[in-house]
Amino acid sequence: MKKTIGSKQWHFGPYGGRYVPETLMKALEELTQAYRIFRANKKVQAELRHYLKDYAGRPTPLYEAKRLTEHFGRARIFIKREDLCHTGAHKINNTIAQALLARSLGKKRIVAETGAGQHGVASATAACVFGLDCVVYMGAHDIERQALNVYKMRLLGAKVVPVYSGSQTLKDATNEAIRDWVTTVDSTHYLIGSAVGPHPYPAIVRDFQAVIGRETRTEFLRREKRLPDYLMACVGGGSNAIGFFHAFLKDRKVKIIGIEAAGEGRAGVLHGMKSYLLQNKDGQVQLAHSISAGLDYPSVGPEHSFLKDSARVRYEAVTDREALEGFKLLTQVEGIIPALEPSHAFGYLKKLMPKTRKSQIVAVCLSGRGDKDIHTVQKFLKV
Ligand SMILES: *Cc1c(COP(=O)(O)O)cnc(C)c1O
Repeated sequence: MKKTIGSKQWHFGPYGGRYVPETLMKALEELTQAYRIFRANKKVQAELRHYLKDYAGRPTPLYEAKRLTEHFGRARIFIKREDLCHTGAHKINNTIAQALLARSLGKKRIVAETGAGQHGVASATAACVFGLDCVVYMGAHDIERQALNVYKMRLLGAKVVPVYSGSQTLKDATNEAIRDWVTTVDSTHYLIGSAVGPHPYPAIVRDFQAVIGRETRTEFLRREKRLPDYLMACVGGGSNAIGFFHAFLKDRKVKIIGIEAAGEGRAGVLHGMKSYLLQNKDGQVQLAHSISAGLDYPSVGPEHSFLKDSARVRYEAVTDREALEGFKLLTQVEGIIPALEPSHAFGYLKKLMPKTRKSQIVAVCLSGRGDKDIHTVQKFLKV
């Protein structure tokens, strides 16, 4: 891997950049240019809005959770319902948009990585919509754990390639997807699944997910004539969180909290970017271990690292046990079965809510529904 000299616009403070082999530099530059045109093209933007509305199901509801509010007896709690998106999570916002972008680049093939299989399913789905070939790299260990999503991807016509290197999980699948892209870059778009990777990916994925926060902000102003006091979302690579937060970053009075599964990292380089990275004292990547495969990523998007250093966003860690409590709480009090990733955010309410007042508002991003996690939860929660 060659270290490349960055220009300022490639970075979020000291984070981000392009740490990639020479062969990808041209492709990343081409992607940057194509994205600029894509954003300015009114016809394509209208097409994107059409797919987000009529296919993905946007805008998603902003639900006032009155029973959950009553449970804590403090601030009012609102939930942004990304779980109601087609394919069951926010991932479709990004895959539909990137598939459209791939089409504008004239690429007929997409490659993607997946951990729990959610991004794989969302990519395979978007590939159907635009008639693209789709190859999904997935760790052999994850393939075993997520048989249902593997079957769904194959039903949708995608080729699922097992990855046997390293820990046989998401980190290794990402390496393989990048390796594929290096050799097929003329015909292929790499459809990355979170706000990570070399520039311009973290900015592109953030922009594609920013619809979550824009809708939330508009809805609060319309209904409540005010903004929420707190925003909360779970952080894996960080795409649902940055998408939820982005429209509020300039609203200094809105306190923003990102909820993570694993502990803190140090600045390091992985998958083409510099960011906070879990590593041992020799700089070897340390695996994240979480009950939710979607938070099982050893790094975060570079913009999150920047927001952490600048203290605009606070990041808190939540344990598996607390996440399961959050899962149970939302299920039993509101009748909404959440994915384990956002269950971390609901688990944190127990710590946050006692510090809030009745006149305040807390908004939580429910990034996805829990169907994929029922098997995991069964092992821990007896009913
Ligand atoms: C993939 C996934 C996540 C983690 O990814 P981010 O990029 O951090 O959003 C969180 N929640 C759900 C439901 C997911 O499927």
